[in-house]
Amino acid sequence: MDTTITQATIERLESVVPVETWRRLAEKAHRQGLHAFRLNDDARTWAVTSHSQPGTAYEVTILDGDLLCSCPGSAYYPYCKHRALVLDELGLLGEFPDRPERRMRSGHRARARAAQAHPAREPSPASG
Ligand SMILES: [Zn+2]
Repeated sequence: MDTTITQATIERLESVVPVETWRRLAEKAHRQGLHAFRLNDDARTWAVTSHSQPGTAYEVTILDGDLLCSCPGSAYYPYCKHRALVLDELGLLGEFPDRPERRMRSGHRARARAAQAHPAREPSPASG
C-alpha cells in the first residue's frame, strides 16, 4: 500500500496556498502547542488537537491532490493550522528559521531570539 504523499499533491497545495503561508501556520500551531497524531499508521489520515476547543481534535485527511480538515475555519479558507501542522509533520515544509524548538520543556523562553528575528530570504528552489 502506498501511503506516501506525492510531490504532485504538494505542488497542488502550494499552488493554492504559498509555502510561506503553510510555514507560518505551522509555526503558529507549534507555538500554541497543537499536536498531530497519525491515525491507523496511515500518512493520509490525521487527528490534530484544537487550540480554541480543548479536548477536541480535528480530522485532517489527505486525498489525492487535496488536503481536508474538519475544523470550522476550513469551510471558508483553503488552509488552516491543522493542515499546516500535518504538512510539517510529514516534513513537507522543509526547515524554516522560525521553527520553535520542540524539545524545549523548561519554562524559560528564548526571548532574545524572537527579538533578533528578522525576515530571512531563502533562495526559492528551482522548479521544473
Ligand atoms: Zn483545520
